Amino acid sequence: MEISLALLKPHVVRNTYALQQLKTQIETNFNILAAKDLRITKELSECFYAEHKDKFFYYRLTSLMQSGFCYAFILQSESCIQKWRNLMGPTKVFRAVYTEPECLRSLYGLSDTRNACHGSDSTVSALREIAIVFPEFDISRVASQSK
Ligand code: GDP
Repeated sequence: MEISLALLKPHVVRNTYALQQLKTQIETNFNILAAKDLRITKELSECFYAEHKDKFFYYRLTSLMQSGFCYAFILQSESCIQKWRNLMGPTKVFRAVYTEPECLRSLYGLSDTRNACHGSDSTVSALREIAIVFPEFDISRVASQSK
């Protein structure tokens, strides 16, 4: 069994319909080990997206993440990382709309920055991101099963 961090971005959390649809997709497809809403601070957003700090969209992205409540999940399933990324669809919403019209980013994304949701891209990323977003979660409980 694999684990992943899923984050619903603030514009989705503000939209009751979109939030419910995304939560339903998650509940249907994964075991949820933890879930919470949270305000992401400047420091947290900069730490979370450190790998993008030289990108042109970094300020836009970290500002978005601070702009309201996010909703975070620790997901678990077989092939959890790829499964959640497949449900989300391509990073770029414009591409998502044309290539995978039923994916979550196509349905609920508004722009390349406000692309609805985040998912870890590897087990290493998942463990790092979960430690940032869920510092209270005892990762050792499941990390040994996560390959
Ligand atoms: P992800 O793993 O699919 O979320 O994609 P990345 O790790 O490459 O990028 C992280 C986040 O940065 C994405 O989810 C987008 O919100 C944002 N992002 C990535 N590429 C672009 C871009 O070209 N323009 C803008 N505005 N935002 C981007």
